[in-house]
Amino acid sequence: MALLQISEPGQSPDPHQRRIAVGIDLGTTHSLVAAVRNGSAECLPDEQGRVILPSAVRYMVDERGQTRRHIGFEALAAQAEDSQNTIVSVKRFMGRRLADLPDAGRLPYQFEDQPGMVAVKTVAGVKSPVEVSAEILASLRQRAEDTFNDDLFGAVITVPAYFDDAQRQATKDAAQMAGLNVLRLLNEPTAAAIAYGLDNGAEGLYAIYDLGGGTFDISLLQLSRGVFEVVATGGDSALGGDDFDHLLADAALADAKMEAVTPQDKRTVLVAARRTKEKLSTDGSAHLSCALSTGMLSVKLTRERLAELAKPLIDKSLASVKRVLRDAKVKPDEVKGVVMVGGSTRMPAVRDAVGAFFGQPPLTDLNPDEVVALGAAIQANQLAGNNAQGELLLLDVLPLSLGLETMGGLVERIIPRNTPIPCALAQDFTTFKDGQTALAVHVVQGEREQVEFCRSLARFELRGIPPMAAGAARIRVSFQVDADGLLSVSAKEQLSGVEASVVIKPSYGLTDDQVAHMLREGFTTAAADMKDRALREARVEAERMLEATRTALAADGDLLSAEDRTRIDGLMAQIGQRCDRGDITALEASIKALADGTEAFAAERMNRSIRQALAGRKLDQV
Ligand code: ADP
Ligand code: MG
Repeated sequence: MALLQISEPGQSPDPHQRRIAVGIDLGTTHSLVAAVRNGSAECLPDEQGRVILPSAVRYMVDERGQTRRHIGFEALAAQAEDSQNTIVSVKRFMGRRLADLPDAGRLPYQFEDQPGMVAVKTVAGVKSPVEVSAEILASLRQRAEDTFNDDLFGAVITVPAYFDDAQRQATKDAAQMAGLNVLRLLNEPTAAAIAYGLDNGAEGLYAIYDLGGGTFDISLLQLSRGVFEVVATGGDSALGGDDFDHLLADAALADAKMEAVTPQDKRTVLVAARRTKEKLSTDGSAHLSCALSTGMLSVKLTRERLAELAKPLIDKSLASVKRVLRDAKVKPDEVKGVVMVGGSTRMPAVRDAVGAFFGQPPLTDLNPDEVVALGAAIQANQLAGNNAQGELLLLDVLPLSLGLETMGGLVERIIPRNTPIPCALAQDFTTFKDGQTALAVHVVQGEREQVEFCRSLARFELRGIPPMAAGAARIRVSFQVDADGLLSVSAKEQLSGVEASVVIKPSYGLTDDQVAHMLREGFTTAAADMKDRALREARVEAERMLEATRTALAADGDLLSAEDRTRIDGLMAQIGQRCDRGDITALEASIKALADGTEAFAAERMNRSIRQALAGRKLDQV
């Protein structure tokens, strides 16, 4: 992710050759692969026409001692009989140590804590979560290659917004192991927003409500200039559709005055409850029927009944939403749009509650199980350079802000980080001193407020500015980053037209680690930086005041009485002393004192210059 090395030489896309790029939703319970075909994104089905692949891998050893494995539905079918070797929900182990898994004791696996990440002992050997995920990814890669009868160019793989570096790295490693070229890891909520085309819509805040089988995630995204930034995330890792199944099963058993005692009965009634629950999303009522060891269970249930049962859990999810909004200091009505993700958001009760909370109907047009994969496919297609309509191709975003050094060693940010490229932004500057004819332009990169903590990219000088009073010159500095990531900076004095510029070459890129380091440093030092910035700004202001007063004294000092002159000299000296100390308040007070103390003098000067201007002229000439 080097700033200025977005496309490698010789890798620029050939416009005539379509590259096959897919989006993969590597989910906790289900995984999907999608691609843009004939202009729209769609999920790719397996040979049986199913788009969903259960995220389950079963390891086996056959009679000849050969290691074998089943992936997806086949693995899932054996989960009960061979739970030790059938790994499900492996996503929860990615990049985690044993100590990070509070419920490890209740899982049917034999864990082994390996350096960096927990692993699972199976009949086929110790399997790391990376390896297990790679099996799932390889299976989806195969499906895509079979569909297109061609090799894949690359894939965008989605991860939860809250995934940390270790979890993201583990996901990348799994993809590499599966032979996939990772174009980018994409946050799941961002993928959902892209699937709805929100990145082409109005800038603002969007909420992504993701209620799956076992987890609930809420993310708040900010869209600006076509790029989403995760503002806040929250949720509940133990809240999902499974909980509704339990409630419905218990209600049916209570109605029929029956009990599910054996593990088999418990599983059977849950499966039936899930089926009934899903039916109630489209029908007003449905029968929960199944054969238990104690007899037939058959109970009629209504959508209202389910809504009543589910209400406390839905309210619980909304409490998480409230928390996230509060943390981000956002009111529900400030959210521009709400995207529904996850199978459980098909429930009308969930849709109604979310709609009522935000005061607007949530977006539900796309299949909530597929929406993440679809968004990833759209992004993959863009990254592969297959955009047919020639719309702005979002190659990448600036990983670090670009700016200029201003007086006092401060950084003025011109292009903030995460701005998509290509981009161009300009800002006007002016001269600091009377008669100043040259301006030094220092281009820096980084998130800190002080120049010395940012990375210096280039320096150049704008010369030949016509001598003018301080502040009269208009110098426009423009930053432009082209689609190849080349930065050019130019400075032009608007009145005279004098101009200077510099092009910064790609070799100035940073490694991912350097970028990460600079970002971290920028975040952790932000508060201290702001204070330091305020002090430096006060010093610049003090310097400007002193300079202006000195000029005025040199020109019109004769207007002052001896005692006024002494008083002003005293005020100037005080600023000089306070500049050297770190007390902003005192410095600002003495700047104000000088401004107030020279007010009468300034008025006198005005009068004199008006008198001079009018001297020798008739009134009607004025
Ligand atoms: P995850 O993100 O956890 O992998 P999904 O997004 O695939 O899970 O959601 C699975 C959950 O969605 C299950 O609890 C399932 O019962 C529920 N679900 C699927 N379809 C419906 C439906 N039509 N009505 C209600 N719930 C549904
Ligand atoms: Mg999901």
